[in-house]
Amino acid sequence: MTTHQNSVADSLESLAQIGGELGGGVTRVAWSPELFAAYSWVGDRMRELGLEVEIDAAGNLIGRWETGTGTPVAVGSHLDTVPGGGRFDGALGVVSAVHAVRRLQDEGFEPDRPLWVIAFMDEEGTRFNAALFGSRAFIGEGMGDVGDRVDADGVTLRDAMAVSGFDLDRVDTAARVGDIGAYLELHIEQGPVLEAEGIEIGVVTSIVGLRGYRVRLRGQANHAGTTPMHLRRDALAGAARVALALRDYARCREGVTANVGKISVEPGGANVVPGVADFTIDVRAATAGGLTELERLVEETVTRIAAEENLELDLEPTFALEPLELDAGLVASVERAARTEGASARRLPSGAGHDAMLVGRHVPAAMIFVPSRGGISHSPEEYSDPSHVEVGMGVLAATLRQCLGSDR
Ligand SMILES: [Zn+2]
Repeated sequence: MTTHQNSVADSLESLAQIGGELGGGVTRVAWSPELFAAYSWVGDRMRELGLEVEIDAAGNLIGRWETGTGTPVAVGSHLDTVPGGGRFDGALGVVSAVHAVRRLQDEGFEPDRPLWVIAFMDEEGTRFNAALFGSRAFIGEGMGDVGDRVDADGVTLRDAMAVSGFDLDRVDTAARVGDIGAYLELHIEQGPVLEAEGIEIGVVTSIVGLRGYRVRLRGQANHAGTTPMHLRRDALAGAARVALALRDYARCREGVTANVGKISVEPGGANVVPGVADFTIDVRAATAGGLTELERLVEETVTRIAAEENLELDLEPTFALEPLELDAGLVASVERAARTEGASARRLPSGAGHDAMLVGRHVPAAMIFVPSRGGISHSPEEYSDPSHVEVGMGVLAATLRQCLGSDR
């Protein structure tokens, strides 16, 4: 008995059992047994459709429908999740790609070009702070020092790979973006716009760029009762001022966000003035100019507040992604596909990073969004209506029919 007649929602439900937890969350972090179990489940679905399945040196799962003679079109997303994540983020794109292949085959469609379905390794990056690992490798970007990064248990990325039978030094052999001619990705919106407007399909026009930082403010740990307020060097107070200043800046600008999402203070006693505050900053903008302004703002704000609070400052950039304009021709193809499928659609930018933002720097790329209930993601509450995910898959298949029919 195969899953041949199942809906996309049925497949997502089955997949969510792998790494599934009480309360509905799903945990399949990078290089974990759960993630590889998901690979094996999806790999079986791919083989049922006659795809050639492999896992490349960067841990990307690739199923190739070797048909036609042109340059392959790739469709992908990711199967890894954040801890306690949802059932749709990433999984939707991979599962729908498999279903789209099935639909095209059922229709007797004969592509002029091969089709690759890809699940990229470690899109989320929560375990090793190495987000987009697989798509980075796929586009041939250097891995820098990521091999030495450790997870919460002190395991290095290099060792976690080795445990699963992978060698970090061989990752460069996964650089195959030159072999493909276009890239498509279906994803949940992870935002509230489509639901609020009652629209089924988001046609993504651009993906925001972002800058990540790690900040350490160092003051003086001291007695909470005997140290006069004006003599304190309170690192947490400095961090709080930074968080609020960035929030105020982003609030009065269109398409800009700022977030302080992780903070720890030392020594961490209820009756001790915090001597050290370590925290992260994540800022995003839709344009290159907006990002440059944000970089300047972060540096200036953190430096000014550290000086005013008499704190020593370490500001370390940890992450940089440039904004990406998606391919105008493919964006128009997605819109046509939505019309063909009778789905309502609107254009919108993506505020979240995706594998498409790396692959799309090398080949024409487009993204399709389906509505997220309540705009919630990275949570067990993440949900998209079964009818919406089915429509999303249909629009993906219809877009593929256009792309695979000619070597554009
Ligand atoms: Zn995702």
